[in-house]
Amino acid sequence: MAIQCKFVKDDGTQCGAYAMNGSDYCFAHDPEKKEEKALASKRGGLNRRQPNLLSLKKVRMNEAKDIKRLMGKLINEVRQGDIDARDASCIGYLAGVFLRADEISGLESRLEKIEYIISKLITGDIRYE
Ligand SMILES: [Zn+2]
Repeated sequence: MAIQCKFVKDDGTQCGAYAMNGSDYCFAHDPEKKEEKALASKRGGLNRRQPNLLSLKKVRMNEAKDIKRLMGKLINEVRQGDIDARDASCIGYLAGVFLRADEISGLESRLEKIEYIISKLITGDIRYE
């Protein structure tokens, strides 16, 4: 069973992370992992600079299900460290804007159809029975 990291922070609260197997501390607070941590931190810094959004492949973005597919892929890329979380956040934000625009344009075309039918009912071109 996982145990909580024994590290106590400056504010007196205990670290909320789980301790690593065979240790009383999480990876960040284990005194024996100091060197590894420094290396991981350095690697993280390098990884953050590596992904270049301009080099990403163009993706199909015609409808909401395209965004769903892209978000699924993006979530895995973030989880695996293949893409900078800030870049993913930017893509996520734009995807949200796209979905909103897609939703509004869908409502607009439905409204246009309804208006058209109402105008035909008013002029008597069609009758409601
Ligand atoms: Zn900790």
